[in-house]
Amino acid sequence: MSNHSVKQVNSAVNEIYSHDLPRTPVDAEFLASQEGKIKVSMIALVGCWGCTLSFLDMDERILNLLDKVTILRSSLTDVKRIPDRCVVGFVEGGVASEENIETLEHYRENCDILISVGACAVWGGVPSMRNLLPLSECLEEAYINSPTAVSGVIPIIPNHPDLTKVTTKVYPCHEVVKMDYFIPGCPPDGDAIFKVLDDLVNGRPVDLPTSINRYD
Ligand code: SF4
Repeated sequence: MSNHSVKQVNSAVNEIYSHDLPRTPVDAEFLASQEGKIKVSMIALVGCWGCTLSFLDMDERILNLLDKVTILRSSLTDVKRIPDRCVVGFVEGGVASEENIETLEHYRENCDILISVGACAVWGGVPSMRNLLPLSECLEEAYINSPTAVSGVIPIIPNHPDLTKVTTKVYPCHEVVKMDYFIPGCPPDGDAIFKVLDDLVNGRPVDLPTSINRYD
């Protein structure tokens, strides 16, 4: 392959993101059945996906909501863009990279109500422990001094232009865009996520009882 064609291939690869990949065609009958429902999406930024598991802890109760709700995106597929405007967007994780900022801004622009789910989204959580040290020290510890660095290989800090730039600090979501509600906990109970969604879907003011509001 000539240098020219290598460059063309690389440039094409660089421009494709997961949300740009062709979508699997959705069955027309299914699409029609979702018309008029409240659109909901969820995305994971920097966290451990424990909050996504709490989302699943709503268990069969979510089935009762599916008459009124359709889920466009979930962190299980991790596609970073939502195809249509949503009424409710749930966000797990804090903001630790330029790509996180772009994704969160996209959610803010495309969701009427945006909700921080879990300690990482609400105040930075575990990932924000790195805020106590300069970023350069954290990267050196992770890539140069790490006991898991492969022996015999010259260690480097990755800096390929295709990699997203890491932000100097980890930020809670509300320091980047306006967030409408906060569900604390690490992770929050599935009961808490269900209660907030159920209130919103049924037009009630959001009321999270202390009994299911966790701060650990
Ligand atoms: S809040 Fe806890 S469970 Fe949720 S993503 Fe962060 S570390 Fe994981």
